[in-house]
Amino acid sequence: MHRELFPVSCPQCGESQNVTPGGFDPDANPFGPVTCMVCGRAFSCDEYLAGLKARRRALEEMQPPSVVAVPANDR
Ligand SMILES: [Zn+2]
Repeated sequence: MHRELFPVSCPQCGESQNVTPGGFDPDANPFGPVTCMVCGRAFSCDEYLAGLKARRRALEEMQPPSVVAVPANDR
């Protein structure tokens, strides 16, 4: 399953400068390692996923939803 990935804000310094391994998959086990480029903090899986969710919500609020409601014409 493909998932769009965004840089997430660091809980320690607030910067969104993640360092992720090649072919990074947040659902992979073991997770990461994902680290902050600025302060070097290593994200936990929960921190990263929570940050990803918050970032995705912020992006969705900035742009209108791409899904258009289709009127139900069939009877
Ligand atoms: Zn940081």
